Amino acid sequence: MHFLPSGRLKRSLRKQVILFGISVLLPALVLFVFIVRLNRQDNELRKKRAAEARQQKAEEIGQHLAERLEKTEKIVLQELASDSGNSQSVYRTHPNLVFVGNIIKEELLMPWEGNETQRLSLEAGRSEELILQAQKAEFEKNDLKLAVSLLNRALSSADSPSQKCFIQVQKGRVLSKLGDEEEAHRIYRDILGQPGDMTDEYGIPFSLYAAERLSVLSSEVETVLDRLEDLMEDIRWLPSSALYFIQDITEQVQEKSQDPDLLGRMANLRQSTENAQENLERLESLKGYVSSWMLRRRSLNKSGDPLTWEAHGDIPWIVGIREVNEGQSQVLLVFHGPGVLSTLIEESGLTETFPGTCQITLGPSGEGFSPGGPFEGFRIQFEETDVSAWSKSSLPFPILYWSILVLVVGFTTFGGYLLWRDVGRELAIAEMRSQFAASVSHELKTPLTSIRMFAEALTMGVKKRPKAQKEYLQTIISESERLSRLLNNVLDFSKIEQGTRTYRFEPTSLEEVIHAAEEAMAFPMDQKGFHLHVEVEKGIPTILADRDAIEQAVLNLLHNAMKYSGESREIQLKLHRNGDMASIDVTDYGIGIVEEDRDRIFGKFFRVQGVDNQKIPGTGLGLTIVSHITESHGGKVEVKSQPGEGSTFSIILPLEAK
Ligand code: ADP
Repeated sequence: MHFLPSGRLKRSLRKQVILFGISVLLPALVLFVFIVRLNRQDNELRKKRAAEARQQKAEEIGQHLAERLEKTEKIVLQELASDSGNSQSVYRTHPNLVFVGNIIKEELLMPWEGNETQRLSLEAGRSEELILQAQKAEFEKNDLKLAVSLLNRALSSADSPSQKCFIQVQKGRVLSKLGDEEEAHRIYRDILGQPGDMTDEYGIPFSLYAAERLSVLSSEVETVLDRLEDLMEDIRWLPSSALYFIQDITEQVQEKSQDPDLLGRMANLRQSTENAQENLERLESLKGYVSSWMLRRRSLNKSGDPLTWEAHGDIPWIVGIREVNEGQSQVLLVFHGPGVLSTLIEESGLTETFPGTCQITLGPSGEGFSPGGPFEGFRIQFEETDVSAWSKSSLPFPILYWSILVLVVGFTTFGGYLLWRDVGRELAIAEMRSQFAASVSHELKTPLTSIRMFAEALTMGVKKRPKAQKEYLQTIISESERLSRLLNNVLDFSKIEQGTRTYRFEPTSLEEVIHAAEEAMAFPMDQKGFHLHVEVEKGIPTILADRDAIEQAVLNLLHNAMKYSGESREIQLKLHRNGDMASIDVTDYGIGIVEEDRDRIFGKFFRVQGVDNQKIPGTGLGLTIVSHITESHGGKVEVKSQPGEGSTFSIILPLEAK
């Protein structure tokens, strides 16, 4: 048997740890890093692919958008050419068309501007002269009747509907000055019903003048409101002044009405005039864009005219300028960006080919993807609503990699734990071994000292006292037996460890074994005042066993019973039959064993820790050998114990050899 010096042990443990590090930890770490990197690369690749897919989709959408805009543009221009007088119907047939207007002399004309025919028709002919005379009569001469008759004459010679309206407005005013309110209101009611594009030279519909006059009558409030609402709906673009006019009229009407329904309608009306004002401001700002576009066009020398579409404003308008009349003049077309886009996506079934929603965002850079083609200054942004093919992993089984990672980490941790446990055990055993070395020397010393002492006494003259002489001799025999038992135990253990302990099986009477043990214990027990009660059941058959080994086991138990008896001096040794088993029980009434130690006491070198136990000499091998002997005979050792009350150790052996 050999012991590892602690330095060597530590070195060997360190070697184990290093080996573990190299063979398990290092590969695990490499694998871990590899998988993490793989995943990161996959993520990047996924992002790249998604971006590419989006770019492609943006271009596809861009292509569709360009086709659709071009088509609509053609139709709008055709419609305008064929029906130049009425642009309102164009807006009605193309709901996403925000504005279409002429650019004359490099300047964008507002819808109500430059309506030359209107202005000319107002001023044209004899009626113009008559109107001027009537105004003179009304304001300078204060001759209202003359003014009425002059206006009547102008009316009959007027040749355009808008001119007639204009004259009627004058007439209404003069009549109400004259006090003929009834007739005046009749005229106003008539004008109120005139279409919205019947305007004066400032683009203000005549019906608004009539509405203003009629709004003073509470009976007309509803009619006036109806008309204002219709106007806002029918006419896409009203000049600012007309919008203010409408706001003024609603305010006037509001003072007269308490009806919550009407009040609600008025609030809505005001809201839509405010929205219209905002749009108007945007349109004004487009004027600047038009001049810069014209400048650019001139510098490009016209030939390279790119038919671009550009975006303007927060909720983007898609804006384009097109040549008409063989380059003589230009037209500005404005579409509602989100509107065109959503109808396009819906109608072309594009939603099915990409997940989520998409929208137009402004700016040449930033988020989103350029739709390419004829588009400038805006991008298309996608918002994915659920997991899609766009963000799918490129790895065949992404979950597999994560599982491998988890397994690797799990196994490494488990391996680490096993190693830690083993190292702990090794250290504990090393600690026990070093204690063992100390206790063996101690155990050897005590009997040797006694032997020597009594042998010396014998030589020195106890001869005359034969009783003492016999006692001394017996002590010497007993101590040498103790010595040989100790050495036997150590030698046996060493053989057990090396796996070379063999047993000689022969028919053995357990009863004889019990008596032999009783005999061997007689003197040491007597010497220490113990009483051994032996009880043997008759008729237990002989078994195949190594007689010496069984006796050694029984003696080990009896010696333990003595050692751990405390104050008690009673010990029982019992052989009895239990079914097809024979049981040898050794019972003491000593210190007992706590439950948690009951299994551990059979382990090598194990000794119960505690003040009482420490004082009792021992090597921690006795029970290890008992359990080995018993198990080699196909049996087992059992222990029943109560701390403070004693213990019973039973060697249970099968009667039939297997
Ligand atoms: P040793 O007695 O030499 O220490 P053993 O292997 O015989 O070694 O016993 C192991 C431990 O079991 C002892 O240290 C002791 O604490 C405990 N033990 C053994 N027999 C008894 C007993 N009869 N009563 C109480 N404790 C016992």
